[in-house]
This record gives sequence, structure tokens and C-alpha cells, in this order.
Amino acid sequence: MTANKRTFMVFMGPPGAGKGTQARILQEKLGLPQISTGDLFRYNLKNETELGLLAKSYMDAGDLVPDEVTIRMVEERLTRADCAPGAIFDGFPRNLVQVVALDEMLADEGGLSLVPMLTVDDDEVMRRITGRRICRTCGAVYHVEFNPPKVAGVCDIDGGELYQRDDDKADTVKNRLYVYYKQTSPLVGYYFAKELLAEVDGSQPPAAVTADLLAVLAEHGIAPG
Ligand code: ADP
Ligand code: AMP
Ligand code: ZN
Repeated sequence: MTANKRTFMVFMGPPGAGKGTQARILQEKLGLPQISTGDLFRYNLKNETELGLLAKSYMDAGDLVPDEVTIRMVEERLTRADCAPGAIFDGFPRNLVQVVALDEMLADEGGLSLVPMLTVDDDEVMRRITGRRICRTCGAVYHVEFNPPKVAGVCDIDGGELYQRDDDKADTVKNRLYVYYKQTSPLVGYYFAKELLAEVDGSQPPAAVTADLLAVLAEHGIAPG
């Protein structure tokens, strides 16, 4: 690894594992932006863009948005100046087509540096997803029980209203888990074979997960700047 190599990581794990929570914490510590395709789709939906309206039906069903639009959205995001030092991908790639597309996007950058995988069992995933609340204004993530805001229903950061994502309701969650196991979990084997995978016990409290992630990153030469 050269001194000025950009650092790109993919956070893997089932929906609700805590990828977004940890990516938001680490983006501050590491100076790497979080690229969450789910957040990007929700932002587009809120602003009623063509992309947001297209994504809506897939998101409501818990299915993947078509690869072509998802990949184009990520390519565009990577052209922004904040990606100069690299990025943390969260929720992308989600299938083998997207994996290959990401490899191509990063071919001139020496590829990914690491793929941390947050392991959490299905019962805990259900508890985390059904209790998740999101700020309408800034997208900050809370949990009614495990990570509650100071005032119920109100974002600590900006006072925004907290809401439950439509796709976090029990029926859609089951399909999202099905899609994860069928389409996304094979990527774990792909990254394992490339010697990029680093498993972290995601079932611990958030601060312990952050500490383990930072330790694994340090082992691979990725440290807070
Ligand atoms: P993902 O991005 O993997 O879908 P999130 O980061 O949105 O997952 O976390 C899912 C839910 O679980 C949120 O409500 C979040 O507050 C909560 N959560 C995240 N990490 C933990 C943790 N280590 N322990 C308990 N709850 C957590
Ligand atoms: P998330 O916020 O990561 O839970 O994603 C919410 C929803 O956005 C998913 O259920 C999909 O409908 C869509 N989505 C997010 N990322 C992707 C992706 N990489 N490929 C396809 N669809 C995605
Ligand atoms: Zn907020």
C-alpha cells in the first residue's frame, strides 16, 4: 500500500446489523465519507426526483432497485470532492453485478482496502429493524430501546422529527432478509476469497462494535488520520 492510496471499504452485514450506525461514527473518525445507497434513494424520494420515484416501488416491496440505476448513482457519488481520501460503502454492493461494477470503478485505485462484516443473528436483526427510527431532516439513526433520543420522537442533533421507515415494518422486513440471504450473502464468500473480509461481532453494544472495528482496521493499516 502506497502512502497516498485512497481507502475504500464495504461494510457488509444483514439489514439492521448496524452498518449505517458504525459508518456514521467512523466517517468522522477516519475522514472518509459514508456512501449509503439506501440514504441516497431516500433523499431522492424525499425530493421527489425521477430516481426517487423509480426507486420507491422496489423499496416499498423490499426488493433491490435495478442495478443500472443503482450503479450509475454510485458512480456519480464517487465524483464528488469529499471522496478524495476514499469512502465507506454501506448497503452497496448488494449482488454480484454490483460487486463487479464496484471492482471496475475502483480498478485504478487498487481496489478495496477491507470489507468489515458485522455479524448479528436474525432475532436481533428483527428487534433492531422494528425499533429503528430515522430523522426526517438529517437521516440520523436511533432505536426506541437500544439507542433512544433524549426526547422521544425528536432528533438530538437538529430537533428533526423521527419516523419509522415504511420498509421497516414487519412484512417488508421479511422480504428484505430473504433478498439479503439470496442475493447479498454470496458476496461474503467473494470477499473472503479475495482476503478482504474481516468479521466483527455486531451483536455487542455500539461502542464495543466501534472499538472492534477500529482494532481490525488498525491491523490492516487503516487508522484515524
Ligand atoms: P443497517 O445500516 O445495517 O441497516 P442500522 O445502523 O440502521 O443498520 O441499525 C439498525 C438499528 O439497530 C437502528 O435502530 C440502530 O439504532 C440499532 N443499532 C445499531 N447498532 C446497534 C448495536 N450495536 N446494538 C443495538 N442496537 C443497535
Ligand atoms: P437500506 O437503507 O440499505 O436498508 O436500503 C433500503 C432499500 O433501498 C433496499 O431495501 C433497496 O430497495 C434499496 N437499495 C439500497 N441499496 C441498494 C443497492 N445497492 N441495490 C439495490 N437496491 C438498493
Ligand atoms: Zn436529525
